Amino acid sequence: MALTLAARSTLIAPSATLAMAAEAKRLKGQGIDVLDFALGEPDFNTPDNIQEAAIRAMRAGHTHYTPPAGIAELREAIAAHYTNHHKLPTTWQQVIVSNGCKQSIHNALMALSGPGDEVIIPTPYWVSYADLVKLTGATPVLVETSEASHFKMTPAQFLAAVTPKTKLLMINSPSNPTGVVYSHAELEAIADAVLTTSVGVLSDEIYEQLVYGNATPTCFATLRPGLADRTVTLSGVSKTYAMTGWRIGWAVGPVAVAKFMGDVQSQETSNPCSVSQWAALEAIVGPQDSVKHMLSEFTKRRAYVIERVAQLPDVTCVPADGAFYAFMNVSKHFGRTLGGKKIENSTDFCLTALAASHVALVMGSAFGAEGYARLSFATSMSILERGFDTLGKFLEG
Ligand code: GLU
Repeated sequence: MALTLAARSTLIAPSATLAMAAEAKRLKGQGIDVLDFALGEPDFNTPDNIQEAAIRAMRAGHTHYTPPAGIAELREAIAAHYTNHHKLPTTWQQVIVSNGCKQSIHNALMALSGPGDEVIIPTPYWVSYADLVKLTGATPVLVETSEASHFKMTPAQFLAAVTPKTKLLMINSPSNPTGVVYSHAELEAIADAVLTTSVGVLSDEIYEQLVYGNATPTCFATLRPGLADRTVTLSGVSKTYAMTGWRIGWAVGPVAVAKFMGDVQSQETSNPCSVSQWAALEAIVGPQDSVKHMLSEFTKRRAYVIERVAQLPDVTCVPADGAFYAFMNVSKHFGRTLGGKKIENSTDFCLTALAASHVALVMGSAFGAEGYARLSFATSMSILERGFDTLGKFLEG
């Protein structure tokens, strides 16, 4: 008899960001010059000091299993970052290092939610949140935000979504896919609303060091006394240090939660890569010049992207204050024929832009926001220039 898939196989779809990136790569493999804006992945190489630390780690024999929740040195360094930089007193026992921030999110959801629970997620949300919630058996409850409110959920919207089943709120500032950064005061207002309930918070702060202009990142757990007891903060080295392939993320939370997350991880994947952990340690405690350099490049690209998006016909976009995305409203093009195809939705839009013009974007529907297309500007200025030229022609039909 053929194997039958478990019931949960119907709950999730493959990650759309990775699927679009894979399709762009397939076309590139055929010799096609794809203008690739699909993946949120810095185009910079991992800085030399970090690479050297990895080589030194291998030479020193750090090629064996480590404790499942990570090496003590890295957990200490992460705890020190929160203690010193965010003024959030943190011990290493509160930190768990994972195989990328995505695994930390999974661990946190496994630790805190399950069948019968509800998890509030403001839309647009990062592509994997809702599916990771569903994998635990819990139900994602989507709270819609709009361009008009700059994609920010209000405390009133949060409170209206809370039910006796609500277990968690997932927030993400700076946001993927919108680049929106909540102000300190806006997050304080959400924190106050959270504290009137029994809801816990998963705060994904992986873009905390990628902010522009006057925007400042906020560590949610610090906002009010007691909030750290019900918050898990998520982050990692992928975006800040151009270390996507090394797969190092982390979670910081109450000791009992971190311990259980570590137990989940020990059963599922053991430790994150030993060599990557030593590289991540150098990233965090070593010189930070490369971060400044990359941020200044992203700042230039952001300014260019804002200028070029404004010139695209019938496209609007809230300028990103953080991360490296432009979340473009392309819905005025629905019903038109572009690239020889009638465009009905964001999936048609992105698949046709890729097939007809070789521009790779990610459909808004993957982020719970139909009508949009996400462009990642973590790519070179020359590709951005050619990409906008080509996108402009594509939109002319
Ligand atoms: N976070 C990145 C993105 O949104 C990486 C892709 C992924 O892990 O889904 O493009």
